[in-house]
Amino acid sequence: MSIRIGLAAGALATLHLCGQDPDPARLRKDVYALADPAMEGRATGTAGQRKAAAYLAQRFLDAGLVPLVSQEGPPCAPSFLLPYTLLRSRQDAAASTFQLGHTMLKVGEDILTARAQAATGEVVFVGYGIHAPELKWDDAAGLEPKGCWLAMWEGAPESPGTGASKDWATAGQAETKLEWARKAGAAGCLFIQTRPDTEAGFGRMRLYLSRSVERGQLSLKGGAVRESQTFWLSAEAAKALRIELKADPKPGGSRALGTFVYTPKITKEEIPASNLAGLIPGTDLKLKDEIIVLSAHHDHVGMEGGKLHPGADDNASGTAAILEVARLLKDSKPKRSILVLSLSGEEIGLWGSQAFVAAPPVELSRIKADINLDMVGRNALDEVCVTPAQVDGAVGTLTQEARAIALRQGLKLTTEADQYWYRSDHFTFARRGIPAIFFFGGMHADYHQPSDTPDKINYEKLARVVGLAKELVLNVANATEPPKLLPKETWSTWTWPSPTSPALKPR
Ligand SMILES: [Zn+2]
Repeated sequence: MSIRIGLAAGALATLHLCGQDPDPARLRKDVYALADPAMEGRATGTAGQRKAAAYLAQRFLDAGLVPLVSQEGPPCAPSFLLPYTLLRSRQDAAASTFQLGHTMLKVGEDILTARAQAATGEVVFVGYGIHAPELKWDDAAGLEPKGCWLAMWEGAPESPGTGASKDWATAGQAETKLEWARKAGAAGCLFIQTRPDTEAGFGRMRLYLSRSVERGQLSLKGGAVRESQTFWLSAEAAKALRIELKADPKPGGSRALGTFVYTPKITKEEIPASNLAGLIPGTDLKLKDEIIVLSAHHDHVGMEGGKLHPGADDNASGTAAILEVARLLKDSKPKRSILVLSLSGEEIGLWGSQAFVAAPPVELSRIKADINLDMVGRNALDEVCVTPAQVDGAVGTLTQEARAIALRQGLKLTTEADQYWYRSDHFTFARRGIPAIFFFGGMHADYHQPSDTPDKINYEKLARVVGLAKELVLNVANATEPPKLLPKETWSTWTWPSPTSPALKPR
């Protein structure tokens, strides 16, 4: 193995001379600069992130990228920066109220929610909220849930004596119940604690929601807010409401609990942020208006717990990689245009890419693909994870193309990245029906830790990922036909995972 690595490194060193191959030394320089303490971990909207954006604007200029000039109004000074504003809504739990019937419940203690908007409605108690004829259990019998809020125990009854335990586990998941409630036209769900705080379910939600309330709810300024339709009630709240968990529960037996009124006290704060975009203009008369996006997020989590989180792999690595691709393709005269896109807001919910597609600087229909890189500098030298690979059996032409290139370059593309499909900015493009592909170097113990430092990056590996991305983006830009979503694919319509989903990004 060492001989192979030695040869590869030697070959790279020789080829650098002609300026056509990825240069590990240049990549190292950019990763160290972005992970520098002066950048304060690049949390979106902070001085550190603005510093990173200024650094990147200079690198865009050096790479010969062309700024996008606004097509409307008088031409202003061209800039790589695409500013956007996020709105943070924070719940003041102590000043928020929740009343159900005549009972007042303490927000943040007896009742948990990330919802930042007032809500009211009729509440119907529906037992476990399980509608599973195959398990001979139906809490929906005789129920008209349309427009109602459904209160239900979390989880599933302990030993109902019918069906397999794995089917009960599925039936007891909050996602399954929410899906049923949504299909039945219910307004939302109130889950009631059945297990101690330390276990799954309520305990997990308490932790998740307290963090989420602390962070506040983000939305694009002027954009729609994805409001939570769930509340979680403590065991004490159930007692106060005289809802009792029976030792031998039976399905059905729904009953009205009355009307609830949730009045949150919300403070709002604006967070100014920006993405950067620079173009390698296409040269083909017919194809130059079509655009292939090469993206990576440059933001990270900042100074969590007072400690610097340098985010060298996540995602100074991917950012350095797209800069290097830009430098290498500078004089490549691609047929289609290539848009190098450095995004922010990723770590707090893919907001930079959402801002980009919500107010695209070029018509979205011109964007034919997104090739996204996130965390590409660690783990095995000649292995890279790719998605979409096997999710729902779906493989698009981008993945096929990438496989062929990887094979030629001696890189192995592995498929375990499918579990991360939701978790970086390519997902935002895929949701708009744009073919997207995501390269990922694999998970490691330094993920979102102060120990994600630049000395741990394998710059030879990073150079190999650059080689793969460069060839892919150029092939796609020069191909007769743009990439396609294969007919069987369903992933472009996938929705966001719910807060209880295992696919949710750990914080
Ligand atoms: Zn990342």
